[in-house]
Amino acid sequence: MLTEDDYLLLSGIQHFSFCRRQWALIHIEQAWSENLRTVEGKLMHERAHDPFFTEKRGDTIIAREMPVFSNTLGVSGQCDVVEFHSDKNGVTLHGRTGLWLPCPIEYKRGSPKVSDADRLQLCAQAICLEEMLLCSAIKTAYLYYGETHRREAVDLTAELRETVRSCFAEMRGYFERRYTPRVKPTKSCNACSLKDICLPKMPKNSGVREYINGVIGESE
Ligand code: SF4
Repeated sequence: MLTEDDYLLLSGIQHFSFCRRQWALIHIEQAWSENLRTVEGKLMHERAHDPFFTEKRGDTIIAREMPVFSNTLGVSGQCDVVEFHSDKNGVTLHGRTGLWLPCPIEYKRGSPKVSDADRLQLCAQAICLEEMLLCSAIKTAYLYYGETHRREAVDLTAELRETVRSCFAEMRGYFERRYTPRVKPTKSCNACSLKDICLPKMPKNSGVREYINGVIGESE
């Protein structure tokens, strides 16, 4: 049985989908990530007594920086924004009349990615909300990108949900074994913020190709 202290950080699914090793370097090996988990845990407790900020605009209630968790996924995190829309299939909310259906919206500074990283994070947030509020399945959620100033609708399909579940199950397995996957160099490495930590053994006078040839085969 998991306790809150055992929960993984929800946002880690972005790192994990980018590179499993990057996720492990941040969430298993780095001391600061433990601190981050502790701080976030404390914030969750504080916020339980200090409700997150909400406002109402017409038929929509807007909650910002809403803490979320899922015991089935074993994760906790935060939604940038959750819009609650008046809907007959919704749920009751404390202090509000009517029925409300939640819809998470995640804000990103950059532009839409080719990978599913942002969609997986958003889908995980929706699964948390469904579990916390005992509401019916959320069909659509949104990613807002700062560079395009646009909302992108994301269908929360059965396939996306299954990918979220299998990612967290794999992360849980690595986390409990304190296992960091070995280097699997890909073109993603060029854009990786941890490449200096991940590839410390790269000889000064050899190129990436030689290094990659040297480590290929080490992987699982
Ligand atoms: S440098 Fe490459 S293998 Fe290492 S963590 Fe980054 S993406 Fe993963």
